[in-house]
Amino acid sequence: MRVHIVNPSHFAFGVGLITTRWLYVLAAATPEKWGDPILTDEILEPFDTDRLEAGDVIGIGIHTGNALVGYQLGQRARARGAWVVYGGIHATLYPEEAHEHGGAHAVVKGDGDVVWGSAIEDCRNGVPKLLYEGGQVDAGKFRPARWDLLDRGKHLWASVQTVRGCPKHCSFCSVWRTDGQEPRQRGVNPVIEEIVELRRIGFKFVALADDNFYPVTIEDLRMADRRKDKTRYNELKTLRDERFELMAQMEQLPADMVFLTQITMEAAEDPDFLRAMKRARIMGALVGVEAVTPEGLKDVYKDFNLVGEDLVTRLKMFKQHGIHILGSFIFGLPSDTPSTFDATADLAKRADITFAQFMTLTPFPGTLDFDQWEKDNADSMPLVDGTPVSRHWLIPQSKRPKLLTPHPVMSAEEIRRRTLTVWYDFYSVRASWKRSNVVKSLKSRLAFVLMSRLYPQMFANTGLATDSARVARSTRWARMLLKALQRVCALPPMPDLQVPLSEPPAVERGTAA
Ligand code: SF4
Repeated sequence: MRVHIVNPSHFAFGVGLITTRWLYVLAAATPEKWGDPILTDEILEPFDTDRLEAGDVIGIGIHTGNALVGYQLGQRARARGAWVVYGGIHATLYPEEAHEHGGAHAVVKGDGDVVWGSAIEDCRNGVPKLLYEGGQVDAGKFRPARWDLLDRGKHLWASVQTVRGCPKHCSFCSVWRTDGQEPRQRGVNPVIEEIVELRRIGFKFVALADDNFYPVTIEDLRMADRRKDKTRYNELKTLRDERFELMAQMEQLPADMVFLTQITMEAAEDPDFLRAMKRARIMGALVGVEAVTPEGLKDVYKDFNLVGEDLVTRLKMFKQHGIHILGSFIFGLPSDTPSTFDATADLAKRADITFAQFMTLTPFPGTLDFDQWEKDNADSMPLVDGTPVSRHWLIPQSKRPKLLTPHPVMSAEEIRRRTLTVWYDFYSVRASWKRSNVVKSLKSRLAFVLMSRLYPQMFANTGLATDSARVARSTRWARMLLKALQRVCALPPMPDLQVPLSEPPAVERGTAA
């Protein structure tokens, strides 16, 4: 019996922008007695079901975007006599669907770090349970990824997780409901050890693939400090101190490494934190700006963000501390009008944002937006070939509507067209070259422009284009750009690199509380 673990994908690019970390974490959670699992990331190449033999176990991880292609794979695998086990956010939300549509023998709900081994064992014994409750495991039980199983030459960036969960409650996001609102923060040593392993095999760029790298804000601490009972304050302070300790340790890593992460905009109010990020060479951060108007922020329950000139000033604060922003914006909010697109594009330029992504509002399951949408349209949900659009992930890609919710003043086509225009404008060669002055050498500037061309090919054209020829062309382009960038992003391996000795925590220079 062999164990296969597969990340399904509609598109294969040959080279991946970022390592699909969960594959390597689940590999680590696979008991040794079953040997090394065979990992397939379909973002690189399609899984060949002929490799499956009767009695093999296949673990398929799905999120909403790849659920359908995952279900098709599961059905093929079951037809070959394999045991089919699903996991991932989507399977956690809809375990019964994986049984109904995906040929599942079993579904793991929640984190797979601990229960995956039991699911394999039960399959081996011919008695898999329909459902395994993985729950939210403690940070101390997070598995470090099996990077020894990675094909190094096929990835631009590596990924390490330092914390799961997010204390916010944005209406379009499922993270806080599936991963929890209480941050589960990994210890410093296991994180540093993983990063060292990645540098040993030649990674320059490492994404700290967290839900929110800044889980405790200054305001959180102030509010907790006002309480008579200091328990909460002490918990938050410990979490914050550990962040500084991690960043102090990252300072000791080779100077040619660069890190990226995901944080909330509130970090801009925290110069100590920004300075520690800079010292740790966390040079880039995805920040969810979402909307540039107060009405838009209210639409998504994100009124802790700012608007107008205050927003520009706050975003610039990151750059002033040497941290480049990948700003994330959403179009199609109920309060949007045609002028929102120009206002957003203008703000992205004025705020000195280095990269940006412009998404269209999609109610994803597990979010408040989705619940509301389903409730409001219970009797009137449109159908595509008999499938309600509230189950949009079950509609084949070619027939799936690009926008799902009707907008009060714009048609779906207008929102789609205007969104693409903002993408193309932001990533024009001229604008990208101008922004490339954030790096010095000609080689780095050219790499920056290539990356800027890659981003819309991968995330705008494949998602928003309406004709398959355009999608196919974009996939080809993305493949070429990824290959070219792979060489630029790699560093010579350092097989003898040691884990730096722990220094005293840098909390003294970090805490503002
Ligand atoms: S969008 Fe970001 S800040 Fe909001 S809940 Fe999700 S992870 Fe947290």
